[in-house]
Amino acid sequence: MRKGMTRRELEVTDPNQIIEILDKCKILHLGLVDGDEPYVVAMNYGYTLEGDALTLYLHAAKTGYKLDLMRANPKVFFEMDCDVTPFEGDLPCQYGTAYASIMGRGQAELVEDVEAKKEALSLFMKSQTGKDFEFQDKMVSIVSIIKIHVSEYTAKRREMPLLARRKEKL
Ligand SMILES: Cc1cc2nc3c(=O)[nH]c(=O)nc-3n(C[C@H](O)[C@H](O)[C@H](O)COP(=O)(O)OP(=O)(O)OC[C@H]3O[C@@H](n4cnc5c(N)ncnc54)[C@H](O)[C@@H]3O)c2cc1C
Repeated sequence: MRKGMTRRELEVTDPNQIIEILDKCKILHLGLVDGDEPYVVAMNYGYTLEGDALTLYLHAAKTGYKLDLMRANPKVFFEMDCDVTPFEGDLPCQYGTAYASIMGRGQAELVEDVEAKKEALSLFMKSQTGKDFEFQDKMVSIVSIIKIHVSEYTAKRREMPLLARRKEKL
């Protein structure tokens, strides 16, 4: 069932803040459909954000269970998070965790074209390291590249409450 964010006031819609979260997270958790069971793997990613259009690029070995699942059903869901900072309070209900995160769904495509794989790996490395890399045919031949066409996503940031910030300064 799809629904809006319960804590709507925490939703992040500013594209610059969304880019900041995408740049920071580095790792996402990819949910796949395994028959009638969920299957989740952690993966590093690269991305492009053109207007609202988010595309994710993942790399993996040539074989593996997640690839088998994607071929059978390309529907995916992902979650990434960063700026994770636990905070304390006086009462149990005042403890919590500050964080920023993005969640969304889309379709996975296994990229086969050599030039497209090189481009995806360059985007992947740029997102992961901030550096520009070039790839030779041989390098891309030994990896799988997964392109996720994200159909919808939302971003959220929970700041540390004022009380906890004051407590930290003491
Ligand atoms: C922080 C982080 C970043 C990662 N980044 C990448 C990435 O960019 N690309 C990538 O391909 N992989 C990455 N991995 C590893 C990834 O999460 C999977 O372990 C790996 O991709 C193999 O997944 P698979 O579905 O192909 O499993 P297979 O290797 O085919 O294994 C099948 C079974 O082995 C078990 N298994 C597999 N992996 C794990 C695991 N990590 N922990 C416990 N049990 C496991 C499960 O029961 C699984 O069903 C990362 C892992 C972490 C923790």
